[in-house]
Amino acid sequence: MSVTTTPEATTPPSGTPREPRSTTRSAAAARERSAVLESRIAQNPGEYRVLTGDRPTGALHLGHLLGTVENRVRLQNLGVEVFLIVADYQVITDRDDAGDLPATVREVLLDYLAAGVDPERSTVFTHSAVPALNQLLLPFLSLVTVAELERNPTVKAEAAVAAERGRRGSSGLLFTYPVHQAADILFCHGNLVPVGEDQLPHLETTRMVARRFNQRYSAAQPYFPEPDALIARSLTILGNDGAKMSKSRGNALELRASADETVAYFKRARTDPDRVITYEPDRRPEIANLLQIGAHFTGTAPETLADEMGSAGAGRLKDIVSEAVVEGLRPLRARRRELASAGPRYLAEVLATGNARANAIADRTLDEVRDLMGMRY
Ligand code: ATP
Ligand code: MG
Repeated sequence: MSVTTTPEATTPPSGTPREPRSTTRSAAAARERSAVLESRIAQNPGEYRVLTGDRPTGALHLGHLLGTVENRVRLQNLGVEVFLIVADYQVITDRDDAGDLPATVREVLLDYLAAGVDPERSTVFTHSAVPALNQLLLPFLSLVTVAELERNPTVKAEAAVAAERGRRGSSGLLFTYPVHQAADILFCHGNLVPVGEDQLPHLETTRMVARRFNQRYSAAQPYFPEPDALIARSLTILGNDGAKMSKSRGNALELRASADETVAYFKRARTDPDRVITYEPDRRPEIANLLQIGAHFTGTAPETLADEMGSAGAGRLKDIVSEAVVEGLRPLRARRRELASAGPRYLAEVLATGNARANAIADRTLDEVRDLMGMRY
C-alpha cells in the first residue's frame, strides 16, 4: 500500500483546482516529518490538537495499548490537546449487528481511563452524539469523487474482505468512511493525527478535503488545517496464533483480563521449536513478538532479553513475558477494577462532559462552514 496512490492524478470535482503533485508525500518523508513534529511538540505542545479514536467493537487489547493508547497518553501528558472519538457509527460500516453498544462503549471508556486518559485534559466523545460533526459529511462529500473513494486502499481492502467472506458488497457508509474521518478530524480543527504507516493514505483524504474546502470557500485565509500524520513509534503486536492481534480474530489478550487469564493466554502462544532464543523479527516473528512485549514491560531491548534467555527455550520465555505483562498491567488493571466498581454514574459523566465539549466545537465549526459556503438565510 503506497501513498503515491493518492488521488492527485485524477480530475477533482468541477470547480476545484488541481492540487500540486508535491502534496503527495512518501512514507519516508512522513517519517522524517514526524521526527520534526516530535521536537516541535516537545517545545510547543499547546499548538497541537490530536484527533484519534476507536470503533467500539470490543474491549481494548494489548495491541491497542502498545500500538496507540500509550502514545495518546504520552501526547496528553506532554500537554497536547487530545480528542478521542468512540466511533459508534463506524461499527455499522461492515456489520448488521452492532452488539450491545452501551456495554462496549463502557468497556472502551474503562480501558482509556485505566490506561491514563485524563478526562479533565482529554475529550472523549461518541460519534452519534455530535450531530454537527456528522453534517460536515455533506459538504465534504461534494469535494471528492467516487473514483477517488474507490481507490482508497482501506475501502478497497475492506471490500475485498467482504467479498472473500461471501458478504454482500461494501455499505455506502464504508465507502464514505475516509470522508467521515475527515469530518472527525476537521470538526475540531485537529492538526495532528497519530497513525501507523499503513494508515497514511487515509489521512491524505482528510488533507485533500481540507485543501479543496479552503480553495473553494476560504481562499484568502485557509479555514481548515491540513493535518499532519504523526507516525507512531509503536509496535504491531501479534496475537497468540501468530497473526496480528485483533478483536475480531479472537486472538487478543484483553487489557481487562485477569492475571491467570494472562498466564494461560501466553501458554497458548504459538512459537517455534528452536530452544535458542534470538531476536529475528523476519525469520522468527512469534518469538520476536514475545521478546518485544517482554522488553516493553521490563524496560529493556528485545535483543538484550533474547541474550538473557539464551537456550532456555520458548516455554521459559513465555513465563518471563507473562510475568512481565502481569506486573506491567497491574496498576492499569487495579484502576480499571476500581472505576468499574464505582458504578456507571462516573463513566456517564465523563462521556456527557466530552460530548458537550465536542458539540460546542462542532456547532461552531458548522456555523462557520455554513457562513463560508453562503448558506446563511
Ligand atoms: P477489529 O478486529 O475490529 O479490526 P482491531 O483489534 O484490529 O479491531 P482496530 O479498531 O482495527 O482494532 O484498531 C484500532 C487501532 O489500534 C489501529 O489503528 C492500530 O493503531 C491499533 N492496533 C490495533 N491492533 C493492533 C496491534 N495488534 N498492534 C498494534 N497496534 C494495533
Ligand atoms: Mg483492525
